[in-house]
Amino acid sequence: MVKHTGLGGSRSDGDRVWPAKAAPVPRGRVLVVEDHEDTRFMLKTFLEMSGFAVCEAKDGESAMEMAVNDVPDLILMDLGLPRFDGLSVTRRIRAHEAIRHLSIIFLSGWTDPQRLRDAVDAGCDDYLVKPVEPDRIVAVIEHWLTPNARFAAAWYGAAGAAVKQ
Ligand code: CA
Repeated sequence: MVKHTGLGGSRSDGDRVWPAKAAPVPRGRVLVVEDHEDTRFMLKTFLEMSGFAVCEAKDGESAMEMAVNDVPDLILMDLGLPRFDGLSVTRRIRAHEAIRHLSIIFLSGWTDPQRLRDAVDAGCDDYLVKPVEPDRIVAVIEHWLTPNARFAAAWYGAAGAAVKQ
């Protein structure tokens, strides 16, 4: 018997949607924005082991694209990035009608108070200084994935956009 497959190509990759074997229902979708490859890989690995679905971006431009197109639940954002930095990405997200509600957590090696103020002014929800205990990162992510925290972030983002004008 001849099977007609029409114009369709191979569908063999059809079930490769999410790496969900260990955790069928992810606790949330986290976009990890980090230009340092080893750090990005470590973050992705332990977040997936903790039950989150993870997507990655290695510069500011692709972070913005992924935030708009994939709409994660939360963004873990490095500050120093190629193209445009974490502050610029955060400002753009807060000014973007469709995604301004996203929770944004900065994860940075910078500790000086001005950087923290800049990050808050840009609209971040939280700021973690590297090195951070993995359990602490998970706890902060869980906090910002709760509905109330999201609502607060949306309100805060709107307030931030108003101040800019
Ligand atoms: Ca960096």
